[in-house]
Amino acid sequence: MASRTIEMNDRIYDYMLAHSLRELPVQTGLREATATMEWARMQIAPEQGQFMALLVELIGARKTLEIGTFTGYSALAVALALPADGRVVACDISEEFTSVGRPFWAEAGVADKIDLRLGPALDTLDDLLKEGAAGTFDFAFIDADKGNYGHYYERALALLRTGGLLAVDNVLWSGAVADPTEDDDDTQAIRAVNQEIHADQRVSISLVPIGDGVTLARKR
Ligand code: SAM
Ligand code: CA
Repeated sequence: MASRTIEMNDRIYDYMLAHSLRELPVQTGLREATATMEWARMQIAPEQGQFMALLVELIGARKTLEIGTFTGYSALAVALALPADGRVVACDISEEFTSVGRPFWAEAGVADKIDLRLGPALDTLDDLLKEGAAGTFDFAFIDADKGNYGHYYERALALLRTGGLLAVDNVLWSGAVADPTEDDDDTQAIRAVNQEIHADQRVSISLVPIGDGVTLARKR
């Protein structure tokens, strides 16, 4: 049966990880440190981190943007895939969450590559645009508050160069986007951005059912 995406279960998932995941001890350490936290579920899955690292390698990215860093697992995965002069501009509002990641970034030798900007991400993105950074980023990852996804999408697209790649996280929202009985604000916001990206001819797209669903959008 190859005419649709496989339905995942624990057995297949375990096989997939056992036969594809390559995680450094420092990455496993950060996952374990995060697992004890109340909001641990916000972290991306390890196979998604590896997927994003591969994308970054594939496009030869040097300058990357992250909107929503939490304890820094996705930033670590991307930073590890960047060349020595590569950068992750990492946006988050929480000193508490991001401080968990810093020692792991240092241990991995990528602390210098991660430029953490603490504050509301919309302000950071507007500052970047005011500083003339439009069209200069190779890769961007959107994974912060869902209510602002539409705003993050427009700003990230402006910051990307032509041919740059945007990854939008949680686009399947545990299936809620496809469930007519779900109508909370976050679900509505994700549905709206999914609809917007689907119709947006400024990008080439694919919705990849990895993790909680990731839409890839390449700026034309
Ligand atoms: N990418 C992260 C990872 O791999 O672990 C997970 C990010 S988590 C889903 C979302 C993050 O967005 C949280 O750390 C939260 O503090 C941050 N956030 C929420 N609202 C924000 C805002 N307005 N500006 C910047 N960051 C925000
Ligand atoms: Ca996420």
